[in-house]
Amino acid sequence: MPTDEPPRVAIVGAGPSGLFAAAALVAHPDVRVDIFDRLPTPFGLLRYGVAPDHASIKAVATTLARVFESERVRFLGLVEFGRDVTAAELVAAYDAVIYAVGAADDRHLGIPGEDLPGSRSARQFVAWYSGHPDAEPQPMAGVHDAVVIGVGNVAVDVARILLKEPAALSVTDMPDAVLAALREAEIEHVWLVGRRGPEHATFTTPELRELLETPGIGITVTGCDLDAIDDAVLERHARANVASIARAVADSPATADRWLHLLFWHRPAGLDGEGRVQAVRFEPTAPGAEALTVPADLVLRSIGYRGVPLPGVPYDEGRIPNLEGRVLELDGSARPGEYAVGWIKRGPVGLIGSNKKDAAETVAHLLEDLATQPRRLLTDLDTALDARGVRPSDLADWRRIDEAEIARGGIRGSERTKIEAWHDLLDLVRHDPGPA
Ligand code: NAP
Repeated sequence: MPTDEPPRVAIVGAGPSGLFAAAALVAHPDVRVDIFDRLPTPFGLLRYGVAPDHASIKAVATTLARVFESERVRFLGLVEFGRDVTAAELVAAYDAVIYAVGAADDRHLGIPGEDLPGSRSARQFVAWYSGHPDAEPQPMAGVHDAVVIGVGNVAVDVARILLKEPAALSVTDMPDAVLAALREAEIEHVWLVGRRGPEHATFTTPELRELLETPGIGITVTGCDLDAIDDAVLERHARANVASIARAVADSPATADRWLHLLFWHRPAGLDGEGRVQAVRFEPTAPGAEALTVPADLVLRSIGYRGVPLPGVPYDEGRIPNLEGRVLELDGSARPGEYAVGWIKRGPVGLIGSNKKDAAETVAHLLEDLATQPRRLLTDLDTALDARGVRPSDLADWRRIDEAEIARGGIRGSERTKIEAWHDLLDLVRHDPGPA
């Protein structure tokens, strides 16, 4: 390819960070962008991580999808990095490669019984209720008592979904099978457990208040004396969190069918059960607090996401080492032409919107490098993929899935109902539509 061709950039991952990066790139007049994803559907964690009842956050998809209107952007779904395409191939075929793969794994507690049936990560539970095609189904029949470990926004999301009446969730995009499973649960108690105090919790105040205001629930707090917390030394959000909890406990009804129990200053010591989880043993992390055992049919650890290493790409402690988005070798030396955005760049913290500024930083450096570094002759990846039978899905395939989901939603009275089965998604992906 002659070097006066427009610059070509590959983005690995079509989640919010990848799409914000693509939008920043196409704002530049010539750049062409190919966005790769393992799935035939774009939007990553916006589609499979943001809670189904948070419609306003999900609506960010409309803004992110605008990037696909550019003729200089292609979506290549069903291409798995490491299996269908390697880092070396992308580097050879593009002027620059951006890794936008997020944090696809989760952290572990490292305690006895953690892997008993009935115990899993909140990430897996969220993927299930969000209709991710790889998610293991979650049996809910007979679930009365659930324990959520961690007090971040993901913990708040899963606790709220468990405590809500399933009827209130039928207007969301949850798959029909998920709604049916949630209807089988007989939730009575949901415990939300922090290893520090309410003033240290990482949940944000609006998300906490939404949980506390779940209709029909009773609320208790254990393990801390809210009145003894010195407001004066707290930051505003921590003060608002403590005040919200105190108000919710004071206003709680004395009797309720469903209870939210907030337990602070305790960490799980072990999960017990014969063949499946039946209880969680907690030990105190503050002087004066007591050990406690809580019955549990379902345990969700919500203690943070974790990045996954990409074959052929440097990786350190859950992230790709980088300087403001420029990928570095493990010894800190430069690795020209490769960039990172989103959670794989900075770790699993921040809201969807945080990715816009983050992507702008990386893209600014990428464009700076393109302008100052000599161009290379690029290889033709499309032909290489085709030769080995890799047939990426495209935007038309995604639009067909999109329309089918909207049509399914119409039947249930929701805006959309997710299609969660691989075979249904693949049926809608037509590689060879044949003669018109
Ligand atoms: P997070 O905010 O980092 O919360 C992780 C929680 O796990 C903390 O309470 C942490 O306690 C606890 N933890 C960590 N290791 C533990 C251990 N070994 N034992 C017991 N507890 C442990 O992470 P997240 O909830 O996964 O959320 C990730 C990001 O997504 C956050 O930035 C969040 O705000 C964002 N998010 C936003 C929304 C929303 O806006 N609606 C929804 C979901 C997620 P310590 O603080 O003591 O370490």
